Order: sequence, then structure tokens, then C-alpha cells
Amino acid sequence: MNFVKEHRVKPGEKLKLKSLDTKTKGPFEDKEAAKQHTAKMVRQIQDLQYKMFVEDKQSLLVVLQAPDAAGKDGLIRKVLGQMNPQGCRTYPFKVPSKKELGHDFLWRIHKCTPEKGMVSIFNRSHYEDVLVVRVEDIVPKSVWSKRFEVINHFEQGLALAGTTILKIYLHISPEEQLERFKKRYDNPEKHWKLNPGDYTARSKWDAYREAYQEAFERCSTDAAPWFVIPADHKWYRDASVASIVAQTLSEMNPQMPKPDVDLAEIKALYEAELAKQQT
Ligand code: AMP
Ligand code: MG
Repeated sequence: MNFVKEHRVKPGEKLKLKSLDTKTKGPFEDKEAAKQHTAKMVRQIQDLQYKMFVEDKQSLLVVLQAPDAAGKDGLIRKVLGQMNPQGCRTYPFKVPSKKELGHDFLWRIHKCTPEKGMVSIFNRSHYEDVLVVRVEDIVPKSVWSKRFEVINHFEQGLALAGTTILKIYLHISPEEQLERFKKRYDNPEKHWKLNPGDYTARSKWDAYREAYQEAFERCSTDAAPWFVIPADHKWYRDASVASIVAQTLSEMNPQMPKPDVDLAEIKALYEAELAKQQT
């Protein structure tokens, strides 16, 4: 199955999230089969990321957005965080600080975009500035509604500089979310995640859905496509995102640079050193 084709939002496409399945199993017979596929994809990602790091000519940005408890943390832990940390950074974007609010909304984002050879993973992103900010009425419509175009230009600029961009939305049902909130409540190890604000956001599910739909319609571009991932099954989420990242890295086709040293010379140096050691 081609997960990129399956889940990519076409430019201008008007998605109806409500009618998109959250529970698909895709081509996988069961959880075990999906986990095996994920492991295989993760190995491919590691191999390609290594090449991209050494090549040092292009970079990858993965943006993650989702409702609470949709599994961004799990996806980072199990899939994206498996990349070599020397070449990969994760940036969580929280409520902006006073200093950050003193700048334009992309200021804190731009500093975290990946330089050549690197991968950046955004746990939330500049999209919060057309999502939570819109639903919670933090800035007026006259401001947030102009941001879609600003975002597209920003992302096109990154692409022009050699950054490949993937934007991933984890699509869960409100029923699954409530189930996960309960598991958090039942497990003392997860109590630190409890937050009454999650229930406030939940009561605005429809407004968030509308905000997400407009962001997908306006900002899924060839340079920076959105992917909507059915995420009620954690194993489908992991398997499909791992496939999309592996395919993308593979299409970026990173090449190990040819050695700029004379291999015969290195061999002679080595042999001389070995001979010295043996006497
Ligand atoms: P979490 O990712 O669960 O730790 O929560 C981070 C919180 O920060 C979420 O409630 C986000 O909606 C909020 N947040 C992130 N970016 C912004 C932003 N630009 N404006 C307002 N709230 C934000
Ligand atoms: Mg949270």
C-alpha cells in the first residue's frame, strides 16, 4: 500500500474529517503484522537519515499536530525518536512566552527549522496560530485569517532552501480520546498529563475540526503537504507514519559523498603504521 498517496491531502482539497475513518487497519491483518512493518520502516529511516546527515545537503521537517491524547508523544517515542539524535531534534511548542508573543508568530518557529543534514520534529507548531488561537479567540479573525498565506510563503521558502516538509495530523475519534483520558486517570504514572484544559478543548471539538479542515485546505501544498492519519489504532498510526517518512527520505535520495582523500595513500599510511606496531 502507498501510504503517502492514501493519506496525503491534495492542494485545495476540502476534507470532511467527520467522514474520515479513524479506525482503519489498512493492509495489516493484525497488530503484530503492523508492528513488524513498522520495525522494517524504522530500519530504513535510520539508514536513510544516516546518509542524509553525512551528505549534508538537504533537511527534513516533520510537523505533528493532533487533539490531546491522539498519540504525538507515542509516535515520537516509537518511530521518529528512533533516528540518530546527532542528526535529529524534537521541539515542543507550548503556550508562547511573553518574549515570543512580542514577536511575529513565526519567530520562535524559524529558529527551530532544520539546517542541512538535520531532521526537526515539531510537537505542535506554527499551526497552533491558526487553530487554538482561532478557536479560543486569542487573536481576531482579521489577524489569524491572513496567516494561512504567510505560512505558505514561509514553508515555500524552507522548501526552496532544501528542506522537505511533512505535516502529520493524527486523527482520533472523540470516543477513543475519552477512553485514553480514562487510562491516564487510572494510571498514576500518567497523572502528570492530566489537564482540565483537555476537557475544554474537547467541548469545542467541532470548532477545532473546522479550524483543522481550513488549515488543510489552505495549507496542504506541493512544497509542504498535510497527511491525515487514522490514529485510533496506535499500531496503524506508527506503521503508516513510519512508511510515509521512509518513502519521503527515499525520494530525497541522499547520497554519501565520495571520499576526497586518496584511498591508496590512506592504505599506505595504515600499512606503515601496522608495520611499526609489529616491530
Ligand atoms: P501540550 O502539547 O499538551 O504540552 O500542550 C501545549 C499547549 O500549548 C496546548 O494546549 C497548545 O494549544 C498550547 N499552544 C501551543 N502553541 C500555542 C500558541 N501559539 N498559542 C496559544 N497556545 C498554544
Ligand atoms: Mg496535553
